[in-house]
Amino acid sequence: MSDKILVIGESREGVLRNVSFEAIAAARKMNDNAEVVALLLSDGELEDQAQEMIYYGADRAVTVKHENLKNYTSEGYGQVVLEVVDEETPDAIIMGHTAIGKDLTPKIASRLELGLVSDATEIETDGEDVIFTRPIYSGKAFEKKVIKEGITFATIRPNNIAALEKDESRSGEIQAKDVDVKDLRTVIKEVIRKQSEGVDMSEASVVIAGGRGVKSAEGFEPLYELANLLGGAVGASRGACDAEYCDYSLQIGQTGKVITPDLYIAVGISGAIQHLAGMSNSKVIVAINKDPEANIFNIADYGIVGDLFEVIPLLTEELKQQIG
Ligand code: FAD
Repeated sequence: MSDKILVIGESREGVLRNVSFEAIAAARKMNDNAEVVALLLSDGELEDQAQEMIYYGADRAVTVKHENLKNYTSEGYGQVVLEVVDEETPDAIIMGHTAIGKDLTPKIASRLELGLVSDATEIETDGEDVIFTRPIYSGKAFEKKVIKEGITFATIRPNNIAALEKDESRSGEIQAKDVDVKDLRTVIKEVIRKQSEGVDMSEASVVIAGGRGVKSAEGFEPLYELANLLGGAVGASRGACDAEYCDYSLQIGQTGKVITPDLYIAVGISGAIQHLAGMSNSKVIVAINKDPEANIFNIADYGIVGDLFEVIPLLTEELKQQIG
């Protein structure tokens, strides 16, 4: 039984990523009566974020502020997490399966000689066992895993486990902990973001993805307009990236990002198996393609057979009127 669960939160530019709240919900699914302790790391103030974690279901929060935590490094974050785990002795550790989560958690697991279940999309319990479901073979099958020994350690896929309702009446202790983050062998001089500003694709609830059918970089502009309207992000097929219509950071699929938004709109994408590997678990899939035989229609919930250059402006106009 996981009586104390450590949730490692993550923020970007001072704003907590939604997956941090989802990780708290995951902890509650493991054991609703557990003490859920949120850990936050930064070079800046963390008090408000810690309070936010408590509003979303954490019982208390530990914050670690240090100038060497300005940018993520596995060494810097690793030192903090190992020290906090040593002090808190949690029964379980949960983190988002984000770029940082994917890099940090295997290193922590190896240092602590623990098993790690990565990329869990569902959590259930059976008596004392916590059962994690995770996709395998590029999402074509699922496996269920239980950790039988040591600390239960898992990462959760963003957008799969719903965060709890924010409850501002909740309160909890916020402990500012000193950790001397030192002797780092790597120093990040500068971070140059490739992806455009705005909503992060891996956590967006709406993703509008363009394929080779979009035909040019300019052809992507209406997709950005639609995405902005819906508060979503723009993604792409590898076909579109190879054709240099957009950056590879937007690629979705087997060799790109794996996403599970509430709404995925595939625009001029044929639906190759390698593309489906990155988006087939989206909750609602809409496909716009002029070829009625396109494979994407086989997994789409809604299909629009038509020319995207006609359909997208019509859709955008209609939405503008609906949204006001
Ligand atoms: P196409 O297959 O060329 O499809 C374009 C579609 O646009 C067509 O269906 C066409 O009917 C439609 N269209 C054209 N004009 C219009 C119009 N005016 N209006 C409406 N529809 C229109 N691909 C990925 O996406 N992600 C990956 O991670 C990935 N990894 C790969 C890994 C490996 C090892 C390999 C071998 C391939 C990988 N691929 C990946 C590539 C994949 O096989 C496909 O080649 C690619 O997904 C095709 O991109 P596309 O659908 O944009 O292009």
